[in-house]
Amino acid sequence: MLRISRDKVCYELSSHLEPVAFVEPGETVVLETNDSRTGRLKRAEDVLTSAPQPKNGNPMVNPATGPLFIRGAEPGDTLTVDILDIKLGSQGYLLAKKGVGLLGDTVQETTAWIIPVSEGEARFSNRISLPVRPMIGVIGTAPAGASIPTMYVGDTGGNMDNARITIGTRVFLPVQVPGALLFLGDVHGMMGDGELNGTALEMPAEVRIQVGLIKGQRISLPYLETADLMITTGYGDDFFDAARQAVREMAVRLIDAHSLTWEEAGMLLSAAGDLRICQSYGGQEVTVRLEFPRIRTTGE
Ligand code: CA
Ligand code: CA
Repeated sequence: MLRISRDKVCYELSSHLEPVAFVEPGETVVLETNDSRTGRLKRAEDVLTSAPQPKNGNPMVNPATGPLFIRGAEPGDTLTVDILDIKLGSQGYLLAKKGVGLLGDTVQETTAWIIPVSEGEARFSNRISLPVRPMIGVIGTAPAGASIPTMYVGDTGGNMDNARITIGTRVFLPVQVPGALLFLGDVHGMMGDGELNGTALEMPAEVRIQVGLIKGQRISLPYLETADLMITTGYGDDFFDAARQAVREMAVRLIDAHSLTWEEAGMLLSAAGDLRICQSYGGQEVTVRLEFPRIRTTGE
């Protein structure tokens, strides 16, 4: 099985980067990923010295492994990525940073908390342990236009911080350039919806995926499916813009799949759609998702 080492690291989703491997649709790949500070924060006292420095204008944060060139992928296709497994490393960290997150005004000093992880448990202290909920923070394909720094998100993905991107989920991504160019990294041992303090349990990991290709089917934003849910995504500087994007995406899917009117789709969404905040980076850029039950059509 193809394995991509975590030293194949990049900080932007860009069509200018050389592929690190060529992959056939249907192939299974293991990607080693780095934590959000690329392994520089091993002890709490590293918190300041490990802070990300800019490189070519991009902050070196949320590293992605890649890009993978998917043979046969052309602009206008959709790439599918099945998340088969996420194997977490043995420790991660959490941060409290001055002015970042909803408690940012209470932070006197930027602080790191090193968290050992084993046997499916994150051990915050002798008294506090919680079961892990592994998820992928950064996933996306190269945009045809300007690159997307891995600190941010765009139409082809990036720092989505969507807790539903986990084992068993199928991620659908737009293909805008030949080969799609897939990037993946910034795994979290766990992250609550909203990423309230600005960082998740940031960890290295190994992610096993299977890629697939849907020819001639164009999507405009990343989309997810789990066993039970279909999930659209939205992002923007403004919460309502992001929410409207995710809602419209879902409405269009329902209209197309079930021959509904916009009015009917809106009523159905109001009845069964769950709008959730994924993350709000520094209170500036927000990413959201809209979850709707997968409809099993009954009878003839
Ligand atoms: Ca992230
Ligand atoms: Ca992260």
